[in-house]
Amino acid sequence: MNFLGKDFSLPSGKWVKDNFLLVFMLCCLLGAVIVSYSNGYYQKEITLNVEGEEAVNLTTWKATVGDVLEEVNIDLRPGDEIYPSPGESLRRDMRIYLRRAFPVYVKMGEEREVVWTTGAKVQEILDGLKLGNNDYDEVEPPLHSPVEERMEVVVLSLEREYVTQLEEIPYSTHRKINPSMDKGMYQVIQEGKPGTQEDYVRVTKMEGEEIDRKVISTSVIEGKKDRIKEVGANTSISRGGYTLRFVEAINVSATAYCTCVQCTGTHGRGITSTGKTAVPGDGTRDNPHLIAVDPAVIPMESLLYIESIGYGRAVDTGGAIRGNRIDILMEKHEEALRFGRRNLKVYILQ
Ligand SMILES: [Zn+2]
Repeated sequence: MNFLGKDFSLPSGKWVKDNFLLVFMLCCLLGAVIVSYSNGYYQKEITLNVEGEEAVNLTTWKATVGDVLEEVNIDLRPGDEIYPSPGESLRRDMRIYLRRAFPVYVKMGEEREVVWTTGAKVQEILDGLKLGNNDYDEVEPPLHSPVEERMEVVVLSLEREYVTQLEEIPYSTHRKINPSMDKGMYQVIQEGKPGTQEDYVRVTKMEGEEIDRKVISTSVIEGKKDRIKEVGANTSISRGGYTLRFVEAINVSATAYCTCVQCTGTHGRGITSTGKTAVPGDGTRDNPHLIAVDPAVIPMESLLYIESIGYGRAVDTGGAIRGNRIDILMEKHEEALRFGRRNLKVYILQ
């Protein structure tokens, strides 16, 4: 080949032969360059993005992500998230993202474990520890909460035990209306008796302290017997040709008194507590007996029909007259003494 009068012929076989060492060295150099390049050993611009810090542009000869981190003195700690992964080859204009893990403490009883994470929910942290996801465990904060740096997650272990215990089955009382029985009267036609049952109970303890007790199943050992009370509903009686309508009938313990000092003490002035002159009645409808009552049982001023005594009116009270008690005013002291104490049925008339 001629150029500007000079011979630029390619080296002939003879030339190569004469300069063998030089050719060999050139070939080795070229090979080294190709091998280096294909292995990533060439200069490249990359960007390193560490979360929470400003991005840094770097020029490096390093071949892998891991190498360049080492070059800039970044130690990867367990739990750190790096993208691309440290084994990846570096390429031109590559961006490397690094999120640093932070510690979260998981406390279970006396044990405390450190978990490094870049952020997760409590559930994921516990899953990672392979605690066996016990449904019974109580976790604070709750499983769905995101963890924060240096957060303490407390796992309270719950224990369960099963026990049997005897329980009383309470009886109830049923009322049975008897239309022919006077209103206010009643009789128990069956006494109640509690039953017994055996409960199978689940006891839940947290850190040794009982927090819940739940009956899982129950078997009756002895059935209960309910109390049956028959109550009267009749509100009228016929006496002396009259039909008497009454609000209520009650059984009372009755005594009698007169206006003497012996019977009434300091009240012996012949005046009742309602201010009436204590003139004894005779038990007729027009002139009823004056009766001392407990106003909580018999309302004052009520007209009464007292079985075997006749009519009476509640006009007085007395210190000893409490509950189902009445005291009947009589004319003479001897009369009152003779009356003594009697159990009587009293109708409180309408
Ligand atoms: Zn008297």
